Amino acid sequence: MPLVTSKTWLRRAQTEGWAVGAFNVNTMEQAQAIVGAAKIEGAPVILQCSHRALLYLGQGSSLVGLRYMAHIGRVAAEAVDIPVILHLDHGTYAEVLQATALGFTSAMFDGGDLPLDENIGRTRALCEAVHDAGLTFEAELGEVPRMAGEEKPPVGELTDPEQGAHFVEQTGADVLASAIGSVHAVKEKEVELDLGRLAAIRVRVSVPLVLHGSSGVTDHCIRAGIQGGLTKVNVATQLNQAFTEGVRACLAEQPSMVDPRVYLSAARAAVVERVRERIRFFGAAGKAEG
Ligand SMILES: [Zn+2]
Repeated sequence: MPLVTSKTWLRRAQTEGWAVGAFNVNTMEQAQAIVGAAKIEGAPVILQCSHRALLYLGQGSSLVGLRYMAHIGRVAAEAVDIPVILHLDHGTYAEVLQATALGFTSAMFDGGDLPLDENIGRTRALCEAVHDAGLTFEAELGEVPRMAGEEKPPVGELTDPEQGAHFVEQTGADVLASAIGSVHAVKEKEVELDLGRLAAIRVRVSVPLVLHGSSGVTDHCIRAGIQGGLTKVNVATQLNQAFTEGVRACLAEQPSMVDPRVYLSAARAAVVERVRERIRFFGAAGKAEG
């Protein structure tokens, strides 16, 4: 079916106590795997593409990357009969506007590097533009840091609950990414969430909340976080791990094989299994079926 917006699904997940999986795409095969897995599980699903993935897809041009992704997402959604949302993850100011024009149905602006006042001003302006297009807008307050070669995951600035409420009120954001201890690109499930902070945010902020960097968070904390009000859970590193393990296993078994269709099929199948497991874990299985 055509791409849909996420607001209704996130609101429903919030009311019912489950989470919509938001899975990051770097290649066409990953998009196919994510949508294929959601179809098997009967779940609504968010395909999302980050600024860095756009640069990869567009070979240095994020606008070209957005064009590729808009087509990949649309075709992937039309191939199945479950709701698929195409979301821009960690977009720049220009990318949010471009994604909105190109057919994405949801977008996130990452103004985390800006001073708070400027972040609020830019976020509000983009939010209005995205709303004018009838789409969903996600904003971030606080910092979900990125693991980059350190031995231990770094600690970023966590979201202040009062400031979070003020930020949502000032910007009009539909969805809030809050920093509660998770870290991007952690390969082991070792990070614990600040669940007390999540509870304090939840009572002050009424819009759906997003967990970024879930791959490195213990499943115990993710489950408790969903019970505590997280309604969109982003998954990226775990999918890259599954994809690469699929390629490695295939090439180890057939070292002289040179057909990319063979090892990319193995990679795609590995991602399907990982996404299915996550969808079930988030409680989203069967939710697209009523
Ligand atoms: Zn993120």
